[in-house]
Amino acid sequence: MEIESIVANSALVRAREGKSKGRSWKWREMLRFPHISQCAELAMSTERDYYSLCVKQPIGKKLFQLFCRSRPNLQTFMSLQDALDAFETKSDKERKDFGISIIQRFLMRQGVSLNLFCLVICVFSKYINSSVSWNRDLHKHLSGEPFRQYQDSMFFDRFLQWKMVERQPITKQCFRQYRLLGKGGFGEVWACQVRATGMMYACKKLEKTHVKKRRGEAMALNEKQILERLDSRFVVNLVYAYETKHALCMVLTMMSGGDLRFHIYNIGKPGLDRKRVRFYAAEVCCGLIHLHQMSILYRDLKPENILLDDNGHIRISDLGLAVKLSEGSLVRGRVGTLGYMAPEVIGLEHYGMSADWWGLGCLIYEMTAGQPPFRARGEHPKPPEMERRIQKEQEEYGDKFSQNVKNLCSLLLTKDPKERLGCQRSGGREVQYHPFFRKINFRMLEAGLVEAPFKPDPRLVYCSDVQDIEEFSIVKGVTLDHTDSNFYSKFNTGKVPISWQNEASLLFLFGIASPSSKHDIPIFLNGI
Ligand code: ADP
Ligand code: MG
Ligand code: MG
Repeated sequence: MEIESIVANSALVRAREGKSKGRSWKWREMLRFPHISQCAELAMSTERDYYSLCVKQPIGKKLFQLFCRSRPNLQTFMSLQDALDAFETKSDKERKDFGISIIQRFLMRQGVSLNLFCLVICVFSKYINSSVSWNRDLHKHLSGEPFRQYQDSMFFDRFLQWKMVERQPITKQCFRQYRLLGKGGFGEVWACQVRATGMMYACKKLEKTHVKKRRGEAMALNEKQILERLDSRFVVNLVYAYETKHALCMVLTMMSGGDLRFHIYNIGKPGLDRKRVRFYAAEVCCGLIHLHQMSILYRDLKPENILLDDNGHIRISDLGLAVKLSEGSLVRGRVGTLGYMAPEVIGLEHYGMSADWWGLGCLIYEMTAGQPPFRARGEHPKPPEMERRIQKEQEEYGDKFSQNVKNLCSLLLTKDPKERLGCQRSGGREVQYHPFFRKINFRMLEAGLVEAPFKPDPRLVYCSDVQDIEEFSIVKGVTLDHTDSNFYSKFNTGKVPISWQNEASLLFLFGIASPSSKHDIPIFLNGI
């Protein structure tokens, strides 16, 4: 390894270890609250939507909870919510006892209000029927009078101040830059760190001249707009979108464990052990279900696009080819990477989510066999031959395939999309019910409570050496003018609220007091 690479890697590893230490000493200034009188316009224009303000947005949720805890008549509801949140994190085995303890705690006491009594009963009877909407009744109650009172409280003022900080423009100066991580179609991807918080991210840059020359505006905007609407632990998050003189930048969840291609081919014998195959396949499956629920078809499933984080969990990345389908509609177009394209995509038919389930079949096959389904190792068939194999040939299963994984792959790699697993009414749930996943508890997996079978070494950098990543070419003969600025302004929207608030709330976890200002309201907002 060359000295340049060693230096770049060790700077990155040190920054990653530092975390809170990477925070600039000027961070309080960077996060300074405006005086509340400066929030009047924001207060007027904020839509008073309980779900968005008190459930979805992390800082809003935290402040609403603090408000409730400060009111004696609402404290019990918060304890109930805590108990129900804890209930969610229990394994199936522990749940019965824990459920009974909640009922004992909240109901078998003297002086319990009728209101609370009805609520607990309601919540639990709902829970038994459906695990999704268990706390709907609790929120229904809180979104009434408590939410009205909250909006008149100092806690809501504090929320507005946070929102003003959130509105501050984002520039290159907000970040420190570390090593180059990879190269994409329109530019490079760099490791970066937010100066105000010390948080590490990956910054995907799109060179403006490249985008213009290759008419990539719609594609770039599509990727950015799809990413900003997603909030899934199985898809990379977009946290900031900003522009510099030469580039459009998307700041994304840092995935420092490398991509699955690297893990399948570059560490020992090609392929992964069954535990890892099962775990990654299950997480990708959850990611696809999340995308499909939002009517988003991903279209680019392949090992390179599945990235590992520090803890060994995966996220789907590179949503450049994803497309949002309108209700019940289909798309057409040969889009994706040839070796992973489904027969209906190659055949120029109209298709829907079926293309992604085919992709999952290819991925599981490749993780297991250590080679993709329609191409031998080192072989490079011409495109027409690849197409023929995908559409006509039956893939082969060697002895690395157990009965279960073979069965799952062949169901996902069914040529006819109407017959394929995952393409029936129940969608991806049907895939989750396959016996290959019997050992996976999907409820726990979706809650982030399952430990990964492999944890990347924190001292290693899982990507090519800096000098091995090809340099990005310079485009000549393209001039940027005012006609481009409409597109840039649509792209350059700054912080993505939910992701940014998640980052900002880490400051409280580190036990750091609130950002200060001369006009700080002297209240008991511990740490916020
Ligand atoms: P493109 O859409 O232009 O192909 P990608 O999104 O695939 O760009 O990014 C290019 C490369 O940058 C990837 O192959 C990977 O090596 C690296 N990369 C992309 N996103 C991340 C991330 N979130 N964390 C770490 N590395 C990343
Ligand atoms: Mg890519
Ligand atoms: Mg892309």
